[in-house]
Order: sequence, then C-alpha cells, then structure tokens
Amino acid sequence: MSEWIREPLHDGWAQTLRADETLFDSATEHQRLRVFENARFGRILTLDDVVQTTEGDNFIYHEMMTHVPILAHGAAKRVCIVGGGDGGMAREVLRHSSVEQVTMVEIDAGVVEFSKRYLPMLSQGAFEDPRLDLVIADGADFMRNAEGEEFDVIIIDSTDPIGPGEVLFTDTFYGHAKRAMAAGGIMVTQNGVPFMQGDELTGTMRAFQALFDDATCYLATIPTYAGGPMAFGWGTDSTARSVSLCELQERFAKSGLEPDYYTPDVHQAAFALPGYVQKLIP
Ligand code: SAM
Repeated sequence: MSEWIREPLHDGWAQTLRADETLFDSATEHQRLRVFENARFGRILTLDDVVQTTEGDNFIYHEMMTHVPILAHGAAKRVCIVGGGDGGMAREVLRHSSVEQVTMVEIDAGVVEFSKRYLPMLSQGAFEDPRLDLVIADGADFMRNAEGEEFDVIIIDSTDPIGPGEVLFTDTFYGHAKRAMAAGGIMVTQNGVPFMQGDELTGTMRAFQALFDDATCYLATIPTYAGGPMAFGWGTDSTARSVSLCELQERFAKSGLEPDYYTPDVHQAAFALPGYVQKLIP
C-alpha cells in the first residue's frame, strides 16, 4: 500500500512525496532513516522525514557541489567531504583523476550501510575506491583536531541545521575547517533553499566573510529541495571564482567528465545572484 510522506521542513508549507514501496524504515543511532520508491524520483532517502537525496535528481546537487570547486581550483588533490553518507558526493569527486585522496567524515554509519544496500546507484562503487578514506565521526569533532591537514577542497554535505547537522553551521566549525585547508583551498557548503531558509544562508555568509577573502554563494535548482534554487556557500582566500570561461572549458575538456547538469557556462552563471538572495548576504 502506498503512503504519502509529508516533509515537515518549513513553517507554513510542506511537500509530500508518495512512497509507493517502503524498502527500509528504522531508527539509526542518530535519526529515522527511510528509503522508499517513488514513481517520479525513483528511490528516495529521508532522514527524520526530510529528503536527503533521490535517485532522480541527485545529479544536480552532487555535480554542482563537486565540479564547481574542483574545476575552479584546477589542481585539487586532497578533498574532504563532511557528511555525504549516501556516497553520491564521493562518486562525483572521485571522477576527477587529479584527486588523489578523499576523506569522508560521516557521523552515521547507518546512512552509509543502508545507502550501500538500498541506494547503490548513488555511490556507484565509490566506497570501494582505494582513494576514499571513510571516517565515522562527528564532522565538528574531526575538524577540531584537523589542524595541519591540507585539504584543497572541503565539501560540507550536511543535513539541515536540525539534529546532528546543527554543529556544521556554527562559526566554530567553519573556523576549524578553515585551519584544515591548504593555501588556495575552497570550502563549499549546502545552505538550503534561501527563499525558505534565508537565515541559514545569512549565518554561513556572515561566518565566511570573517574567515575568507572571497565569501559568496552560488545556486542550482533541485526539484526535491523545493521552494526555489538551493544555495551553496563558497569560501576561499584565492581568486578561483574569477577563473575565465576559456580556462574552465579547457579544464572541463581535460577532465573527461560527462555530467548531466554541470557545464562551464552553468558554473559561471550559478554565481549570478537574484536580488532577494543578495540581500540575504550581509
Ligand atoms: N543534501 C542533503 C540535504 O540537505 O537534504 C544532505 C545529504 S546527507 C548525505 C547529509 C549527511 O550528513 C547525512 O548522512 C548525515 O548523517 C550527515 N551528518 C549530519 N550531521 C553530521 C555531523 N555532525 N558530522 C558528520 N556528518 C553529519
């Protein structure tokens, strides 16, 4: 029997998704995890009833959080993913042959375990790649002790700032993460849908402005993160954001990537912000 699942994320507004078949529904040590089949999006993973990823539209999110910073950087060897338990982010990072080592810090072993079993199309073998080092730990604890690491790119693929993900939106966490970056490093964050969660973006931008020479966000529209485009925080002391289109096209051609969303033109255009988003940046 199918069941409609209501996502309780925003005050006064909700999206509902039909679970045509529930493949898994149980509490992990940290959160309620469900995997279900939906006619439009394929398999969907929710944590505490909030959509984390879907088979159908995850490519937009994962491509934009990986190829944008990695191609803007131009020579990223060491990448850290905080969160990312479904493996989709690692999948896209590992497509870059320049990347020699990926450290993925996920708090919930249950997410990894069940994603491998019920959502193998998300990770596509990423967990077996010898370049991936999976650390089961709180990302905030990891970054507190990560001084001396030299990550070229840090990707914060967190849940929303409720429950275990809350610490990943604090100034202290961002400050510790910055200490773990190599010179020229880039940090990107998932910052929710600004039309619905404007405070989330404002908070991260305020913290980034205090930490980085270049602090902004870029956008992409992901159907199941409903309510308008999603914002990704961008922080770096480098000038990587102003890489020319010509240079990006060259790097992209060399990468051999065949993405379904990312293109160098989309990369550049994603940093064009509508007025209501600009106003959320202090
Ligand atoms: N993009 C999704 C969204 O916002 O809907 C989130 C993707 S999901 C892979 C986020 C992951 O972050 C989950 O697997 C969750 O367990 C993990 N996570 C939450 N809090 C964390 C923390 N403090 N440290 C490390 N991982 C955390």
